[in-house]
Amino acid sequence: MTGPSTPWTTATVVEVDRPDGRLARVRLDVDGREEGLPGQHYVVRLRAPDDYTAQRSYSVASDPADPLVELMVERMPDGEVSGHVHDVLEPGDVLEVRGPLGGWFTWDGSTTAVAVGGGSGVVPLVAMLRYAARTGTADRLRVVAVGKTLDALPYAEELLAAGASVFTTRENLGSRVAAPPYPEEVGELVEDLVARSGPVEAAYVCGSAGFATFATRLLGESGVRLDRVRVEQFGPTS
Ligand SMILES: Cc1cc2nc3c(=O)[nH]c(=O)nc-3n(C[C@H](O)[C@H](O)[C@H](O)COP(=O)(O)OP(=O)(O)OC[C@H]3O[C@@H](n4cnc5c(N)ncnc54)[C@H](O)[C@@H]3O)c2cc1C
Repeated sequence: MTGPSTPWTTATVVEVDRPDGRLARVRLDVDGREEGLPGQHYVVRLRAPDDYTAQRSYSVASDPADPLVELMVERMPDGEVSGHVHDVLEPGDVLEVRGPLGGWFTWDGSTTAVAVGGGSGVVPLVAMLRYAARTGTADRLRVVAVGKTLDALPYAEELLAAGASVFTTRENLGSRVAAPPYPEEVGELVEDLVARSGPVEAAYVCGSAGFATFATRLLGESGVRLDRVRVEQFGPTS
């Protein structure tokens, strides 16, 4: 069971990969790990020697069946927790974690679904794609990923290989001029999904507050009922 009662546990860092200094991929061996569903997140808590703590949420990128939990952390300027992950964390370190959390922003493969992510908001969508590939449910899921550039988009290669529709807003991609996705582009993809798998039953939007507003409107203009849309917002911690 996950929810408010999910206990704190510990996680050992197995791998930290920082390909470009902006994104850190962290793989954790979580003590007493529960499988959960794609779309969920963990809370990571850092503790200083004087017992000062800081905690932040991070979406899970790994398939629930993966024995390790994979997170992708974007470096924020002066970021307390992301800065630690980028500058200090190394294999063998032990973190306090709670999860998997979030029962609302999850997809179990049984519904026809569209998911739209911006920047690091693609992370839970990667978990959905990995899960779909393993469980043979990829026909029911369409993923739209939006990044400033391909290099800046987490998991860009994997998203493209898995058939996600990738859009870049600050560089041209092939013959497509840099721009956020247009309703006609997403509408086409939704029509194709509906023709293959039936009406859209669930839609997922994940990213910054501004992106969430944009993507929700985009889905509405693309033929998705707004009462189907579930939003996960990656805002600054208040
Ligand atoms: C459910 C959930 C899932 C999340 N999943 C991920 C994930 O998979 N990967 C990921 O990298 N982050 C994710 N986040 C965001 C993450 O929780 C932190 O907010 C982020 O890592 C910044 O924390 P920090 O301690 O480094 O920065 P802080 O020390 O809190 O802030 C440093 C500076 O960055 C600004 N800032 C903080 N957070 C953000 C943000 N998200 N966007 C823009 N500016 C910000 C602050 O206003 C401040 O100026 C998620 C958030 C939520 C709520």
